[in-house]
Amino acid sequence: MIHVGIGYDVHALVEGRKLVLGCVEIPHPRGLDGHSDADALAHAITDAILGAIGEVDIGHFFPNTDPRWKGAPSRVFLEEAARQVTQRGGRIINIDATVIAEQPKIFPHLPAMKTQVAAALNLATGKVGIKATTNERMGFLGREEGIAAMAVASVDLPE
Ligand code: MG
Repeated sequence: MIHVGIGYDVHALVEGRKLVLGCVEIPHPRGLDGHSDADALAHAITDAILGAIGEVDIGHFFPNTDPRWKGAPSRVFLEEAARQVTQRGGRIINIDATVIAEQPKIFPHLPAMKTQVAAALNLATGKVGIKATTNERMGFLGREEGIAAMAVASVDLPE
């Protein structure tokens, strides 16, 4: 049975933090604020996978009150979501995601992000779609106050 899940995440851009998206560090004067590495793209994809298997969201799996996840690389969240799928006898069919960022330009980093996300999920790179767009300078994303990401996941689960 094919199941689909949706995920969305947003984090604020602040001084003094590294910018990590799709498990790739991107050179930028500011980074995303959060308990973990605040990788909004990895978080959206994690939630999409958890949603596809009818699970609770990432915040329940990895509470931001738990010191274990402080500064954690979000790769571990992706790995855990994939493990949850495997545990149910399922497999991830494909992922598609969009990053919404006014700056920096994400496009040059997409191949590395796809490679890293696919590796974390134990998928072929061709099964991971990652795209980027701006918010046409509108709203909080347009003012570069934060970066958002949305994702869908398709998962094949036994009936
Ligand atoms: Mg998040």
